Amino acid sequence: MNRRQALQTAGLSVATLALSGFPVCAQDKTVGYTLPKLPYDYDALEPTIDAETMKIHHGKHHQAYINNANTLLKGEPKLLALPADELLANIEKVPEKIRQGVINNVGGHSNHTIFWEIMGTKGGKAPSGALAKAIDAKFGSLDKFQADLSTKAVTQFGSGWAWLVVNKKGELETIQRKNQDSPIMDALKPILGIDVWEHAYYLKYRNLRPDYVKAWWNVVNWEKVAERYAAAVK
Ligand code: MN
Repeated sequence: MNRRQALQTAGLSVATLALSGFPVCAQDKTVGYTLPKLPYDYDALEPTIDAETMKIHHGKHHQAYINNANTLLKGEPKLLALPADELLANIEKVPEKIRQGVINNVGGHSNHTIFWEIMGTKGGKAPSGALAKAIDAKFGSLDKFQADLSTKAVTQFGSGWAWLVVNKKGELETIQRKNQDSPIMDALKPILGIDVWEHAYYLKYRNLRPDYVKAWWNVVNWEKVAERYAAAVK
């Protein structure tokens, strides 16, 4: 069943988001969502993110979101057959009694899939091309953009994320989201996101979230971020 057929079978209008070009969350038609392989080793982001944190974050936390999502959607096979991001874009179609659980856990799956992808050891120190131009046009400079997003990451109260998104007008924007609330639910296209749940940094940085956020920029894979930007504005 392709995506359009899946949507039609589920009685959903085709999602308003043009997500083509985005990597799709790992999924199996019978099992449901599955844990994507990391595109690098657990120790690849050392010293910024320690291997133990990566191992627990990917293998335990992300896996738990997936397990919970598959359990929640067990009685809704048509919804479970949808790509995660399509389901999030159509969140109001999810039965109310499981909706918050879907927001938390399918959101967690989608958010972490993006997070692993936009980090890495390659991709350069700064963006280039169309993304670099768009950042300069919107924020004034890369430094100013990083200061803006870092502030949003540090000041997000409790668990959540800070995101660079493309909004409905096709412009870049920085936002905060609590818990695992996905920007996709608000028809925003996430380009880059930093996870500021304590599980993302506490082993190494303890209570010092600002130190984690400052160091995190060292492991951004700008090539991947640029690919996501190109797909979002296409
Ligand atoms: Mn996380």
